[in-house]
Amino acid sequence: MSRTVLITGGNRGIGLSIARSFAEDGDKVVVTHRSGEPPEGLAGVRCDVTDSESLQRGVREVEERFGPVEVLVANAGITRDGLSPMMREEDFVEVIDTNLVGAFRAARLVAPGMIGAKRGRIVFVSSVMGFMGSPGQTNYAASKSGMLGLARSLAWELGKRNITVNLVTPGLIETDMIKEVSGKRRTGLLDQTPLRRTGTPDEVADAVRFLASDAAAYITGAALPVSGGLAMGH
Ligand code: NDP
Repeated sequence: MSRTVLITGGNRGIGLSIARSFAEDGDKVVVTHRSGEPPEGLAGVRCDVTDSESLQRGVREVEERFGPVEVLVANAGITRDGLSPMMREEDFVEVIDTNLVGAFRAARLVAPGMIGAKRGRIVFVSSVMGFMGSPGQTNYAASKSGMLGLARSLAWELGKRNITVNLVTPGLIETDMIKEVSGKRRTGLLDQTPLRRTGTPDEVADAVRFLASDAAAYITGAALPVSGGLAMGH
């Protein structure tokens, strides 16, 4: 059955792979994008997850065009790295606002539609860094581990309405986001990765699709690493 799927930050990187994989399954997929046009072949709503009003307008537009959102993938995320003594407070706040509060805003906006439909799937794209900690990424790691508390609390609040809430925790995935990860840091992380390689956006998409599928109906509040074994198990 074709579902309405909303993916924040679905215009490139991991979000785009997730969007394309749901679309290949025949779902009605909508991605958020902040500028330009949505990627070819996908529907888009223009919004910024740090702006409640724009997100609210975006969700309303999706619901009017396609009906209630049945699957939300809260994927939009940024980094603003720096060792904490030098990190500007604005950079800490901006990362929390985008990655964590943005995910909360999106989940809260789609929840009423899911409650009405008596079904729903919410998947947060977190990161292994939220569980390992990461030098130079206090803001990012805090935002990503915060998503676990967010997901598990929502899992409690929404479970009786047949809505599951889970996380994927990717390791190093080849996208624009890790272009600036230095050779030394990259080698260090790969040394801690049993599979000794980076992952692909499609490998994250496969895990997200699983958590959103009927096969995962009895899984909620889980954090699924997609990391080649880096930071396995939480
Ligand atoms: P990219 O930088 O390639 O893409 C980030 C996406 O988030 C873009 O679509 C971007 O939109 C969107 N975005 C950022 N800020 C906002 C905002 N305020 N409102 C709406 N959209 C926004 O990164 P990835 O694809 O690698 O990352 C996707 C997710 O996966 C992130 O949450 C990231 O933290 C997580 N992740 C990535 C890992 C990796 O190794 N790559 C590892 C672990 C987790 P725009 O094009 O407008 O900038």
